Amino acid sequence: MTKWVYSFGDGAAEGRADMKNLLGGKGANLAEMASLGLPVPPGLTISTEVCTYYYDNERQYPSELKDQVAEAIKAIETSVGATFGDPENPLLVSVRSGARVSMPGMMDTVLNLGLNDQTVEGLAKNSENERFAWDSYRRFIQMYSDVVLGVDHYHFEELIDLHKDEKGVDLDTDLTADDWKVLVAAFKKKTQETLGEPFPQDVHDQLWGAIGAVFGSWRIERAKVYRKLNNIPEEWGTAVNVQAMVFGNMGETSATGVAFTRDPSTGENEYYGEYLINAQGEDVVAGIRTPQNLTKAAREKAGAKDLSMEESMPEVFGQLASVFEKLEKHYKDMQDIEFTVQRGKLWMLQTRSGKRTAKAALKIAVELAADGLIDEKTAVMRVEPGALDQLLHPTLDPDAPRDVLTRGLPASPGAAHGAAVFTADEAEEWAKAGKDVILCRTETSPEDIHGMHAAKGILTARGGMTSHAAVVARGMGRPCVSGAGAIRIDAKAEIMHCMGREIKKGDLITIDGASGEVMIGEVKTLQPELAGDFATLMEWADTYRTLKVRTNADTPADTTTAREFGAEGIGLCRTEHMFFEGERIVAVRQMILSETEAGRREALAKLLPMQRADFTEIFKIMRGLPVTIRLLDPPLHEFLPREDDEFEQVAGALGISVEKLKRQANELHEFNPMLGHRGCRLGISYPEIYEMQARAIFEAAVAVEKESGETVVPEVMIPLVATEKELSMLRQRVEAEAAKVFTEQSHTVEYMVGTMIELPRAALQAAKIAQSADFFSFGTNDLTQTAIGISRDDAARFLDEYVKLDIFAQDPFVSIDQEGVGELVKIGTERGRSTKPDLKLGICGEHGGDPASVMFCHDVGLDYVSCSPFRVPIARLAAAQAALR
Ligand code: PEP
Ligand code: MG
Repeated sequence: MTKWVYSFGDGAAEGRADMKNLLGGKGANLAEMASLGLPVPPGLTISTEVCTYYYDNERQYPSELKDQVAEAIKAIETSVGATFGDPENPLLVSVRSGARVSMPGMMDTVLNLGLNDQTVEGLAKNSENERFAWDSYRRFIQMYSDVVLGVDHYHFEELIDLHKDEKGVDLDTDLTADDWKVLVAAFKKKTQETLGEPFPQDVHDQLWGAIGAVFGSWRIERAKVYRKLNNIPEEWGTAVNVQAMVFGNMGETSATGVAFTRDPSTGENEYYGEYLINAQGEDVVAGIRTPQNLTKAAREKAGAKDLSMEESMPEVFGQLASVFEKLEKHYKDMQDIEFTVQRGKLWMLQTRSGKRTAKAALKIAVELAADGLIDEKTAVMRVEPGALDQLLHPTLDPDAPRDVLTRGLPASPGAAHGAAVFTADEAEEWAKAGKDVILCRTETSPEDIHGMHAAKGILTARGGMTSHAAVVARGMGRPCVSGAGAIRIDAKAEIMHCMGREIKKGDLITIDGASGEVMIGEVKTLQPELAGDFATLMEWADTYRTLKVRTNADTPADTTTAREFGAEGIGLCRTEHMFFEGERIVAVRQMILSETEAGRREALAKLLPMQRADFTEIFKIMRGLPVTIRLLDPPLHEFLPREDDEFEQVAGALGISVEKLKRQANELHEFNPMLGHRGCRLGISYPEIYEMQARAIFEAAVAVEKESGETVVPEVMIPLVATEKELSMLRQRVEAEAAKVFTEQSHTVEYMVGTMIELPRAALQAAKIAQSADFFSFGTNDLTQTAIGISRDDAARFLDEYVKLDIFAQDPFVSIDQEGVGELVKIGTERGRSTKPDLKLGICGEHGGDPASVMFCHDVGLDYVSCSPFRVPIARLAAAQAALR
């Protein structure tokens, strides 16, 4: 015979904490607490298998269920010394749902079940409190009608209000036993009118009605939506817990409360919670009365005058504190607890692992390990890598008021406030004048880099999670909200419109790049704390991970930040932004627009010393760690002049007319630049560009080695390769340039030449390409774009809907699409290594900082991931968890 029902109580239980799949979280923990000898009201759990059976069999229960429930109820009756439905001495129970994981949306709780017109008299007599009995009965009718029979709560609240008006009183507590009797009659009438049937008087009908409602609620729309959003399988089902009632509303020596064994927002090792005297659990949640503090210290801190539980019920509080200690030791984690005190006796109603902020998670994990309750590995597994984001950037003060204007994509975490400005130049000017600014653009381009750098935060109306704004902001560690579609920016008029409101240049705004919120005015922010617990946990993580973590950085500032965050090298140093700075851009434009190789070489000669200086600095900061430098990638038109004065400047330098220059510039126009003349295709057409860059790299490497005596390890990376031929041709050029520099300088440095795998063809042809490569770095931004055929700049508009419809589980530009893009990474890895078993493999797309993608990279066997500086700690922790899993 299948066991469907599990009993608990009186220091024993048929279930255990590790039976969550069968008993649900609540049921399993009630059983565990009972076994631990904690005061748990006796009860029974109907297993999740009954839920599955129920839905597999046209909403019928297994035939043995009724008998098993009856038997378990008998055990409760014996334990409590009362009988279900007995008019003289009635047993009352609560009925609650309980899935494996807590699941809002489902039927929650029915209390005081077992009351009817007869048993209420018995309760009145035994409790010697008529008012309590009738109040309990009306609460039961109200709850049962609402959650089981579907008669809305407000009908009953209206009746109560009406009655209070008639009596001329304000509070529920002003109502007497007789008032509740009148209201009970009115409630029953209301239910009868609404349903055409009387309120059930048979206690067994009541019980099975509530059990059915719990199972029924597994499939209601709200619950389904929640499951979908949280990846909870339909098959899990819910359990039902039926438990003897204990009453926190039996007078001044009774109470009910909720508590955490440590502070869930700071992680401080102090009890945290609230309680209410003479109340039932729902009163705490409903917020009708303001709950009081649990401890004296908390009360004093809050400046509250109502006594804390520690002061008003010192003895019971002492018992509760020892239960907290026992539970934490037993579960080896911070617990979230519900309890009731009935006439001076403590009862435990629930315990579970408490939800907590990232800050608290860190502190609790480190302190539990320090106390020897858990080991370092467990501590490392306890902190969710993605949650570290909250800690690495300034965050909004949760207590500060905010006026939310709109919401965009949470493109780069951190919160910032400042004056709204609409151009990069203005951002720079204002910043120089000492003002904090938020740069607001419809979208950003490489030309805006200086403004993005100067700004405290970046807001764009268009663009997705790998748009220019998002990628660059993450790299710089600037908070960014991208794709805030409700915003219209009129840069000329220096105004931004959104939902009928206006923000003018200079108006203060705040953005939260972790939530995507845009707020009007200045919202206070809090600074991150990177020493202490954070440093300790990261150190532990590093001892367990095998995957290396590098960074994507292309300025000395980013490089320095990344080292502080523990980067073990640079996995991607993009060189394009270096071309935009100050006077360089003129030389760059001259190069692009000159018609002859000689003209281009002349312009490149001007760029060489500047580029060399860039690399020298970065090599110095990385001190011996590998640095992967990617040769120029974006289409040339990105560098073209736009304004008339820019055209004049370049025409002057080239000695041609503005008209001619404009014609030439026009010829560079491409319909689809992402798939156009970019990446190594530029190197093939204009080898002198890559030669200049290679020279700058090797000259810088030689200079730093000579000066510091430390080895420099440059890795020259060729972008957007589709064929082996492209790579071998360009490799030869790089090698030739290296040889020249080493002869000129009489000094040789070790270096590597490799490629990015960012096109499907390159992944498929990896075996061949590996012949000419010392390393591969998977450029999963472009690989996602080209494998799925969706534009990284335009896809945000429909991806959101795709994710909602579950076509993609997540935005594939954020978390690697393992089935498609990931498969190409696997193929590239296997085929590359089939040619060169020691081929060095990394990833440098945005996915390198996404925990799930990092775990995927570990499984595939890559050597390293590379991500923006501020995500380095996240990747380190994710890599450790991948190794420990
Ligand atoms: C990539 O494509 O994944 C990559 C890292 O290069 P970029 O984002 O510069 O195109
Ligand atoms: Mg790319």
